[in-house]
Amino acid sequence: MTYFNRRNLFLLTLLSVFSATTFSCSSGSKADSRQADQTSTESADVKTVSATDEDSKATPAAQTSTVDPTTIPPGKKADAATIIARQQVPILCYHQVRNWREKDSKTARDYIVPLDLFRQQMKMLADSGYHTISPDQLYAYLTTGAALPSKPIMLTFDDGDLDQYTDAVPIMNKHGFKGTFFIMTVAIGRRGKQPYMDKSQIKALSDAGHTIGCHTWDHHNVKKYEGKDWVTQIEEPTKKLEEITGKPVRYFAYPFGLWNYPATQELKKRNYLAAFQLAEKRDPQEPLYTVRRIIASGYWSPKTLHNAMVASFKGTK
Ligand SMILES: [Zn+2]
Repeated sequence: MTYFNRRNLFLLTLLSVFSATTFSCSSGSKADSRQADQTSTESADVKTVSATDEDSKATPAAQTSTVDPTTIPPGKKADAATIIARQQVPILCYHQVRNWREKDSKTARDYIVPLDLFRQQMKMLADSGYHTISPDQLYAYLTTGAALPSKPIMLTFDDGDLDQYTDAVPIMNKHGFKGTFFIMTVAIGRRGKQPYMDKSQIKALSDAGHTIGCHTWDHHNVKKYEGKDWVTQIEEPTKKLEEITGKPVRYFAYPFGLWNYPATQELKKRNYLAAFQLAEKRDPQEPLYTVRRIIASGYWSPKTLHNAMVASFKGTK
């Protein structure tokens, strides 16, 4: 295993520990995610190459920002082999964006990006010419080969922490960046030491052109669902988010990045177009439901982040 693969595996384990303690969610999640399908991942050669996909067609963001994926006829959608053969778009995953507190553990700090560092990471992306894209744009690109802006990137935020709204978004606004926010609906409006966005804040993000996605009701591992769990964890949260935003919710992020085939089927039944995991290899049969992301660590300088993006999303692996 390469450094990055070892690190991803390590991060996944950390994430499960951190999430389980932070969200008081499933007691089973921790153990399950530790023995997750850690099938071998392809080695990502760490070389100094540009993080761009220079051979992709570059068009201004404005021309491609209003894709409606429901208008793509089924017959026009590429098959799994074609989708997986396309150059990957780098996708970053953030959790909390706030300054570290003394009590934050060493491991938790991988998921907490201090404000100044987040500012620097966003500036690096802007200075390097990156353009954020929506999941609708990603979907149109993967299924039809639709053009993307030059140096496309997706910024995703999990769980729905309030600091994403109050601190991260204003920094992103300076660069015209849009994000995708995967909300865990049980926590909507929760206050206290670690507060979460309320309905009006989620609606405001959606109205401002950010995308709202689903991250289950209470962060249980989808591999454990049976029977009514699909309704509680996916169907009802989807409905709730659609009521809040007044828009269809078509994208899902797996808690802990963990997925299985039954989950991909249940998501399809409920009109989900794509689902996001973490850095494991995409599934050859279900590339749209195993889209890869890397966690942008609170320890990573802009340069380290850039190197990690280049290494992880290089090529079609
Ligand atoms: Zn989460």
